[in-house]
Amino acid sequence: MSSDGNKPHPGAEAAVWRGVGAAAGVAFGPALVIRGSVDEIPGDLVASGNAELEVARFAEALAATRDQLAALREEVRARVSGNEAAIFDSHLMALGDPQFSEKILDVIRVEACNAESAVRIVADQLAHTLALLSDEYLRERAADIHDVARRLIRNLLGIPDMVPRDLDRPCVIVADALTPSETVLLPRDRVLGFVMDRGSATSHAALLARALEIPAVVGLHNFSAEVRTGDEVLIDGARGIVVLRPSRQDLESFHKIAAVRRRVELDLRQLRDLPGVTPDGRTIHLHANIENNSECSSVLDHGAEGIGLYRTEYLWLTRNRPATEAEQIEVYTEAARAMKGKPVIIRALDLGGDKFMGISGDRREANPFLGIRSIRYLLRHPEVFRAQLRAILHASAVGNVQVMYPMISDVSELKQANDLLRSCQRELDIEGTPYDRNIPVGAMIEIPSAALTADTLAEHVDFFCIGTNDLIQYTLAVDRVNDSVIHLYQPTHPSVLRLIQLTIDAGHRHDLWVGVCGEMAADPMLAMLLLGMGIDELSMAPVALPAVKDVIRKTPLAEAQKLAESALRANTAGEVQRLCREFIRRRAPELLELV
Ligand code: PEP
Ligand code: MG
Repeated sequence: MSSDGNKPHPGAEAAVWRGVGAAAGVAFGPALVIRGSVDEIPGDLVASGNAELEVARFAEALAATRDQLAALREEVRARVSGNEAAIFDSHLMALGDPQFSEKILDVIRVEACNAESAVRIVADQLAHTLALLSDEYLRERAADIHDVARRLIRNLLGIPDMVPRDLDRPCVIVADALTPSETVLLPRDRVLGFVMDRGSATSHAALLARALEIPAVVGLHNFSAEVRTGDEVLIDGARGIVVLRPSRQDLESFHKIAAVRRRVELDLRQLRDLPGVTPDGRTIHLHANIENNSECSSVLDHGAEGIGLYRTEYLWLTRNRPATEAEQIEVYTEAARAMKGKPVIIRALDLGGDKFMGISGDRREANPFLGIRSIRYLLRHPEVFRAQLRAILHASAVGNVQVMYPMISDVSELKQANDLLRSCQRELDIEGTPYDRNIPVGAMIEIPSAALTADTLAEHVDFFCIGTNDLIQYTLAVDRVNDSVIHLYQPTHPSVLRLIQLTIDAGHRHDLWVGVCGEMAADPMLAMLLLGMGIDELSMAPVALPAVKDVIRKTPLAEAQKLAESALRANTAGEVQRLCREFIRRRAPELLELV
C-alpha cells in the first residue's frame, strides 16, 4: 500500500491519483469537498490579566465537547455499531486525560495565549510524541488527539460542524482529513465514497468506512485542493486509485470492473454456509482472525467455522493498560458463547515488536522484534501469563476454547508454558472452578528455529499454526513494518515455502493438524499453494474468507499438489508468484478482480 506517485498523470485530461486503499469497492459521482480544518486561529496572545477568562472559556468548551462526544457515541451505537461507537470512547478518554487539560491550562497561564492556541499547541505536542512510537495502532491515536482538539477549537470559536447531515444527491466526499466523528454524521445512504488527503489504512476514519462498507482511498496528500464540489470523481478502494474528471474510457472500464466485482461478491455470498471442501473431498477448516469480540458477528456472517486466531494483545492496547483477569474472563467467555461451540483459538499475549506498550517498565529495545516480545515477555512476567491462562481456562467451560502460544523458538519455552498452564489448572481444581480438562494447546510456528525443530515441538502440543507474517520477516531478515525493505518481504520465497513444508510434514508425522493464520492464508492464490502443501486449516480476516473458500471448492487437491510440487522446485519468489497467478487464472479467473 504505497502512496508513491500520488500525482496526476501529466498531460492527461483525467487526473489519476494513487493513495492507500482503505475500504474496497468502486464508486463514481460528483465530489462534495469538505474543508473542515480549523487552520486560522485569531489573536493568540491575551493580556496577562485575561488568562483566567481563557481558562473559563476552555472549561466551557471542554464540557460542551464532552457532551457532544457522548451524544455522538450513542448516535453511532444506534446507527452503526458498538464497535464504531468505541471510537468515541477513545476520544472521551483523550479529552478526559488530566495531563491533556492540565497542560492546556498551563500553556494558557504561562504562555499568555488564548485557549484556542493552547489547545492547538498541546495537541500538536502530544500527537507528535505519539507519532514517534513504533506501534502503528498507537501512532494512529495521534489522529484522535487532532480530532478532539479540532472539536474543542470549533466549540471555542463557535463554529458549527462543516459536515452536512443531509445531502440532496449521492456524492463522493472529498476532504483533507475527515475525522471519525465527522464521518459518522454523514448520511451514509447518500455517500458513494470517501477520498481523503490524510490518514492511513488503520486510521479510525478508514476503519469506519470499512465498517460502513463505503469505498475509501486515503493518504492523497493534496487532492482536496485540486477538486471543486461537483467535479466528477471515480474511486477504486481496493487499489487505492482515484480518477478526477474521468474520461469516457475510464468510465467504461469502471462500469465493467464494478459489474464483475458485484457479481463475484454476490456469488461468494452464496457460499456462506458451505464447507471449505475441494471437489475431490479434502476439507480445509476455514477460520477467522479477530482482535475484539465485536468482530464475532462478522466471523459468522462471512461463513467462518470458528476463530483461528484471537489477537488478545488488543485488549491491552485499546485500554492502554494491562487487562485484568476478571476483564479477560468476561471477554473470552463472551467470545466462546458468541461462537456457539465453534472453535475459539485464543492466542496468548503477543506484546512487543510493533505492539509495544511499555507496560512492563522494561527499557525500550534497539531491536524490539528480536527482543522481549510475546512468549518471552510472558515467561518473564508469569503473573501476567497466569492471569491470562486462568481466564482462558475459565472461558473453556462454556465453549470450544483452545490456547495458542506465540513466537515459540525453542522447546523449553513450550515446556515452561505448559507447566504454567498445568499449575493454573491445579489452582482452578482447588477453587472448584470448571474448565475443559482436554483444552487443546497449540504453538505458533513463526520463527525458523521452530519450523526446523517442529518434530520436537510437536510432542508438546495438539496443533501448529504457522504465523507467516513473522515467519517471513524472521526468515528473510526483513522488518515487516519497514517500508524501505517492503520489496524484500516475499511470502513465496523458496526458503519460506520450505520451512512451511517442514512444519506441515512434522506436524502430520505426529498426528497434529497444521494451520496458517498469517496473511498468506487470506490470498486465494497462496491459499491454493498451501492446500497443495497439505495444510489443514486457514485463518484470515473475515472479509477475505469467501474468496478463499471459493477457490478451495473449485480446486481438486491433486491439482493443488502439482502446483505445490512445482513451487517447491522453483528458485525464486517471482517464479512461484507466476505459477500461482497462472493457476488461479485457470481455476477461478473472476477472483483476480478481487486480489
Ligand atoms: C503472524 O505472524 O503471521 C501472525 C498471525 O501473528 P501476528 O501477525 O499477530 O504477529
Ligand atoms: Mg506473529
